Amino acid sequence: MSTRKVHVVSLGCPKARVDTEVMVGLAQARGWELVGEADAADAIIVNTCSFLQSAIDESVDVIDEMAVHRAHGARLVVTGCLPSRFGNELAAELPDVDTFLGTSDLHRIADALDGTLPDRSYIRQGWSHLYEDTGDARTVTTRGATAFLKLAEGCNRTCTFCIIPSIRGKQRSRPIEVVVDEAKRLADHGIQELVLVAQDLTSYGTDLGDKRSLVRLLDALESVDVSWIRLMYAYPWNFTDELLDRIATSERIVRYVDMPLQHISSRVLTDMRRNISRDAQARLLDRLRAIPGMVLRSTFITGFPGETDAEFAELKDWIGHVRFDRLGVFAYSQETGTPAGDRVDQVPEEVREERRDELLALQQGIHREKMAEMLGHDVDVLVDGASEDYEGLLEGRYYGQAPDIDGVVLLQIQDPDLELAPGDFVRAHVTAHDDYDLVGTVRPEA
Ligand code: SF4
Repeated sequence: MSTRKVHVVSLGCPKARVDTEVMVGLAQARGWELVGEADAADAIIVNTCSFLQSAIDESVDVIDEMAVHRAHGARLVVTGCLPSRFGNELAAELPDVDTFLGTSDLHRIADALDGTLPDRSYIRQGWSHLYEDTGDARTVTTRGATAFLKLAEGCNRTCTFCIIPSIRGKQRSRPIEVVVDEAKRLADHGIQELVLVAQDLTSYGTDLGDKRSLVRLLDALESVDVSWIRLMYAYPWNFTDELLDRIATSERIVRYVDMPLQHISSRVLTDMRRNISRDAQARLLDRLRAIPGMVLRSTFITGFPGETDAEFAELKDWIGHVRFDRLGVFAYSQETGTPAGDRVDQVPEEVREERRDELLALQQGIHREKMAEMLGHDVDVLVDGASEDYEGLLEGRYYGQAPDIDGVVLLQIQDPDLELAPGDFVRAHVTAHDDYDLVGTVRPEA
């Protein structure tokens, strides 16, 4: 019997990406071969996202696109946050799907592909499968020598605009030794950069009764043979002096923190139920910025219900003042099933989007200036691989650039004999930039 082939489309966030990688590992353990083209596949997995309406629309578009392949006999399996958000009502809405697996039932993927599951849907809402290292294989699909390391599933917070806790459930942390074992296995496979992810990274381990878990994990990861450890999705809470000390003194933990803050107006933060004040956020940024070379990324929402012109102006002034190194801005999305979604004082959609674009334009100028400040500096670059935009050029990232969401360093290599591969580190002299990317010249070794 010829090897059965599976094609995968992974939508959404890095945490969902890890779910995809676990499902691919389980499928391969059952003898399935991963293929890049849907029309060559005997089965297709679409791992979906449903965080925002725009993500739901994208998931449904991709499912429709993949459904055409059922004509040549391919099974279509839809997994992840879309089934977990909408449950069994999806079954009627999407008749072309053979099997639905919620985030709770990803471990059934091999049976779903084989078509041996008796039912069409396996969805336990508000719960997520938490992969352990023992049973679940995992096939890393990120490019270069970078891998996401998921520390926990779910979230215990109740931000009023967010649907995630109702999809993924309460926070459940993976034990430190399980995470460290996985990190060692990834390092054994040549991974050089571990990107730590969770819904709420700085709350890692609190559900296991230990607020120091993240610090203890970082200490344990010091024994793992990787070069970079990156912290993403940190919540502005539990940033203890101990944690800041680890970031400031570790060789491995890069001086880069991604910490979504969402807003700065105390009224809006209260209505978002962020449980933090304007001043506390500002003090935390000062403490982080006190670490030399710290690169800060954050995310904000414009047009949250009730947001006045004055509150938006306060946010814009603050972003102009703080000058984040990296910034994402979302126009508020009114999501059913969230407290904010039920509010009557919704801001008109076009105003939400105008405010988003205003902040992005402000940040583009700030980012351009920060890129210009890099000119003439030498940076250590982790090579990711061939440039996706410039034929013949390699690209990589310096520590201040996270994978997939930040810019890159395009490498101009002066020594024709120098061969670089993904995972190599090389020192580059920054000679040019545009709004997002840097150009680094790799000079021949002296
Ligand atoms: S911290 Fe807030 S925004 Fe983030 S996943 Fe949890 S509830 Fe959602």
